Amino acid sequence: MTPPNIFTSDFAERPHWWDLAAPEACEQGDLPPSADVAIVGSGYTALVAALHLARAGRSVLVLEAELAGHGASRRNAGYLGRTLKRSFTWLEEHHGAEFATRVYRELDAARQWVFTLVAELGIQCHIAQPGRFIGATSEAHYNDLAQELEVMRRRLGYPYEMIAPMDLRRELASDAYKGGAVIPDLGAIHPALYHQGLLKAARKAGVRVFTHTPVTGLARDGKEIKVATARGAVTAREAIVATNGYTPRHVSWLARRVIPFEGFMAATEELSPALMAKLIPNGRTVIDSNVNINFIRPAPDCAKILFGGQTGSKPRDLRDMGQRLHAMISELLPDLAGVRLSRVWKGQCAGTFDFMPHIGRHDGLWYAMGYNFAGVPMGSYLGLKLAQRILGKDEGASVFGTTPFPTLPFYGGNPWFVPLAMRWFDWKDARFARKGT
Ligand SMILES: Cc1cc2nc3c(=O)[nH]c(=O)nc-3n(C[C@H](O)[C@H](O)[C@H](O)COP(=O)(O)OP(=O)(O)OC[C@H]3O[C@@H](n4cnc5c(N)ncnc54)[C@H](O)[C@@H]3O)c2cc1C
Repeated sequence: MTPPNIFTSDFAERPHWWDLAAPEACEQGDLPPSADVAIVGSGYTALVAALHLARAGRSVLVLEAELAGHGASRRNAGYLGRTLKRSFTWLEEHHGAEFATRVYRELDAARQWVFTLVAELGIQCHIAQPGRFIGATSEAHYNDLAQELEVMRRRLGYPYEMIAPMDLRRELASDAYKGGAVIPDLGAIHPALYHQGLLKAARKAGVRVFTHTPVTGLARDGKEIKVATARGAVTAREAIVATNGYTPRHVSWLARRVIPFEGFMAATEELSPALMAKLIPNGRTVIDSNVNINFIRPAPDCAKILFGGQTGSKPRDLRDMGQRLHAMISELLPDLAGVRLSRVWKGQCAGTFDFMPHIGRHDGLWYAMGYNFAGVPMGSYLGLKLAQRILGKDEGASVFGTTPFPTLPFYGGNPWFVPLAMRWFDWKDARFARKGT
């Protein structure tokens, strides 16, 4: 029997977001021989750093291997949270209360920073604060969530509301969760329009953005950095590597520290307003309480549901991934079982061995990366911190620059173990659901 066609006639293997803001070609001529700062990559990290350096009078080159915004910054889900794979309680137990507090304060500062920047630059990118619903995948997860959120409310003042299982449909047209929690102050954004606005602002401030300009080598030469590109060489006083999940192997010290993995998303076809209101009545972003999350949100620019999951898995191709994501969403939101998909896409994320983002400088190269699926706020925030550090400002200090950036013996940047690690996280979550420990 042939499987039903789950793809619309205008189906495309590209991000939903690119309908309004596709990656852009910028300068493609000769590179200048020198610059104050050369930045590898053109995502949020690169552009926020570039904008603030240019505003301080530095000559800045952004060097992008593909089109501007080719990376995760125009492919992500647009969740604006204060998210870390390490809980506050875990950090407190292992690193002390002061460290845990500093981390979670900065995560929230990052979230707020995006709102500030968007307002200041006047970027029209559907930024909003719809709040987030976290679906508990078991009773044990519900109790754990309640405990963790209560600790953060008491210590940090972060608000939340628990949603009992019988009230689940107030948040989601689903029976898949054992209740959950609402975090009312978390945000959402159209990630590609946000990126487009940053690109425009950076270029207006004088940043020169070169696309189709892969950086092929970075070498320290006295106090300067020699940047080799496919279009010739540039000498820079400072260089930033802002490549997160796309970090090239030749930047070996960083490639040994980030774990690239693929994130997948899909968009439904256009739905009726009534169905949209039924599916996610309060219009929140939705995730679940597992480590390997499924995530669902209403599109901010049309009546479609956007969702993702299967992170780090290895589909045959994007249509195969569409089939898997369709099966997943049909189980979570049964009203979508007969609905077709209009887009399926993927992007590269970066994990780290300690589950923390990192900012710093090694062998003359500045870097900020390893956002573990939270790079909309963290890339924007650490981009600012990079600029402040290069300008010698004290505000550039960050808790994410205070711990060693770990690697493992024999790891050279080949993330062969990611699918296995995801299965291990799934197993741990299933065991936690059964045993509660
Ligand atoms: C499917 C998906 C969903 C996600 N959802 C969320 C979310 O909801 N919320 C959230 O906070 N985060 C999310 N993320 C993560 C977030 O998108 C990233 O962490 C963030 O965009 C990273 O930004 P960046 O500027 O550091 O890097 P990127 O935007 O990835 O840019 C890196 C750039 O470096 C370029 N590059 C690489 N090598 C070279 C070279 N040699 N020369 C020149 N250029 C080079 C690449 O082409 C790329 O354009 C998601 C990611 C994915 C993939």
